[in-house]
Amino acid sequence: MNSSSQNGQNGPAGPVTPAERTRPSFESIYLHLAQTLSQRSTCARLQVGTVITTTDYRKVLAVGYNGNASGLPNTCDRHETGNCGCLHSEENAVINCDAPRFIEKIVFVTHLPCVQCAKRLINLGNVKKIYYAQDYRLRDSVEVLKSVGILVEQLPG
Ligand SMILES: [Zn+2]
Ligand SMILES: [Zn+2]
Repeated sequence: MNSSSQNGQNGPAGPVTPAERTRPSFESIYLHLAQTLSQRSTCARLQVGTVITTTDYRKVLAVGYNGNASGLPNTCDRHETGNCGCLHSEENAVINCDAPRFIEKIVFVTHLPCVQCAKRLINLGNVKKIYYAQDYRLRDSVEVLKSVGILVEQLPG
């Protein structure tokens, strides 16, 4: 009957759409995902989680958390700081990442990576930026990452 109302063009404003309220940023969502994954860590010393995404945030390329290798006991090999035998979270995420080198990547980690994991992330190829929540006891990786042009930014976790 009233054809103009059928397409809604002249009707009153509808309900509040998601775009009109505060939505979480992708950065916040993926950092929280890393934090949730870290809860699966079996390391006695520190629980770390990692998420690797595409730079448009449309794809999660890989995830990881720290712990012993698959099939081995779900414990640290020894109780020595920095030498507990667990694979690091970023290390597992790199192992799990089968995206080609040319794909540009963003990494979310609950804690600032160690130097060795920074090097692993460099060699993964095309990592553009690393977001992290908490500082690690050593901060040497920041200079290593900066020296190859990878941005590092701390987010409130
Ligand atoms: Zn451990
Ligand atoms: Zn590490």
